[in-house]
Amino acid sequence: MGIKTLKFGGSSVADGIQLNKIRNIISADPERRYIVVSAPGKRFEKDNKITDLLFLCKAQADHNIPWEQLFQVVADRYLGIKRTLDIDVDLKSRFEEIKSNLAAGCSQDYIVSRGEYLSAILVAAYLGFDFVDTQNLILFDNKGRLLPEETNEALSEELKKHERAVFPGFYGGYRDSGEICLLSRGGSDVTGSLVARAAGADIYENWTDVSGLLMADPRIVKNPKPIEHISYMELRELSYMGAGVLHEEAVFPCRKANIPINIRNTNAPEDPGTIITTESTYDSEKVLSGIAGKHPFTVITLHKSMMNNEIGFVRRALGVLEDLRISFDHIPTGIDSFSLVIESSELEDQIDEVLSAFEHRLHPDSITVFEDIALIAVVGMGLSRTVGVASVITTALADAGINIRLLNQGASEINVILGVESKDFNRAICAIYDAFDK
Ligand code: ASP
Repeated sequence: MGIKTLKFGGSSVADGIQLNKIRNIISADPERRYIVVSAPGKRFEKDNKITDLLFLCKAQADHNIPWEQLFQVVADRYLGIKRTLDIDVDLKSRFEEIKSNLAAGCSQDYIVSRGEYLSAILVAAYLGFDFVDTQNLILFDNKGRLLPEETNEALSEELKKHERAVFPGFYGGYRDSGEICLLSRGGSDVTGSLVARAAGADIYENWTDVSGLLMADPRIVKNPKPIEHISYMELRELSYMGAGVLHEEAVFPCRKANIPINIRNTNAPEDPGTIITTESTYDSEKVLSGIAGKHPFTVITLHKSMMNNEIGFVRRALGVLEDLRISFDHIPTGIDSFSLVIESSELEDQIDEVLSAFEHRLHPDSITVFEDIALIAVVGMGLSRTVGVASVITTALADAGINIRLLNQGASEINVILGVESKDFNRAICAIYDAFDK
C-alpha cells in the first residue's frame, strides 16, 4: 500500500464541521495515513486564530495581566469541537497542566505550541489514529535552527511503529535540552513536508482553503487560471515574489526526496489543486506558469566611466551593503553602470548612510536613486525555450502606456524580472497576464 502524508491548515481544523470534512477526505483513501494538523484557525473573518490567542496569553502572563479568561476562550474552542463531534478524549487535565505551566513561567514556544498539540490530540481521537508528539522528533540546534537529517532519522524510526498517525505541526524540540522550539509562523507546512520525507510518502497533500495556486493574484487579475502543475523552482520564484500558499521552507524536504506536493482545498475536495514536482518530471507545453510581484523597491544606480576595467568595483559596493547588513535582490549590470535593487524596507532610514559610503569607497561619477519601484516576476519553465517572450512583455506594457524601469532575465532562465513604478503595478500585471492568456 502506498503512503500519503496530509497536512491540514488552521481553517481546515477550525471547528467540528471542518473536522468532519477532513475525516471524509481521509476515509476516502486508505493510503492517507500520516496527518499533520495546525491549531484551529479562523471560522469567519473577524474570528481569532488559536495561535494568536496563545501568544497573547503569554504576553499577558508576562505583564502580570490576568490571562485566565483568555485561556478559557482557547479552551472553549477545543471543548466546542469535542462536544460537536462527541470525541472521547480528556481535555480537562491537559488544560490544567498547561495553565499551571503558564502560571509557573513556561516559555512562549511551549505555550504557543499547545495549539497544535491539543488539535492533534483531538483529531487523532476523532479519526482513531495514533497521536505522535513531535517534541523529540523534529529537532533543532541550540540556535533554533532545524536539523533536517537528525529530524529525518528520528521521524523515520518513530513512523515504523505507527500504521496511521496524527502529528501536531509547527513545533519540535531542542536536541540538547528537549525543550519545545517553534518553527516560524505557518510552520505546520514544514512539519508536513518533514513527515512526508521520513515516511517516504508517494505524495504530500497540503490541504488548505483554496484550490491550489493561481496564475496571478485574484485581487489584481480577474479570474486568473489555476496552476495545475508547477516545478519546485518556479514555485520558489513565485513565492519569493509574494505568491504564498505554502511556507517557503516546506518545499525543501519534499524536493530533496523527490516527493510531489499537491495543494488541495478541504472545502472543495473534488478539485485537483496544484501539483508541484521536480523539474525533471515536469513536462508542459505552456510558456507561462505564473506572475507575481511586490513593492516598494529602491533602485540605486552607480555610474562610472570605464567601470568595466576597474576590478573590484561591484565587490566594494556589495561590501557596503554587507557592512550595513542590507540584503539586495538583483544587480542588473551595464558596461559603465550597475544597479542595486533593494527592498525599501531593508534600507529603512539607512539610505543616506549607504549613499555616502558609496561616494566614499567607490568614487562613482554619479549615483541615481529611484524609489517606489515594483518588481514583477514572470515565471515559467517555457520562457527560456520560447522565442519572443521579452517582446510579448514589452509590447503589452508599451500598449498599456507603462514605462519599464528595469528588465532582467533571471539567471535560472525561468523568470523575467521587470521593474515598473509602483503606481503601475496592478495594470502591468494585468497587461502581461492578458498578453500570455491568448
Ligand atoms: N498555527 C501556526 C500559525 O498560525 C502554524 C501553522 O498553522 O502552520 O502560524
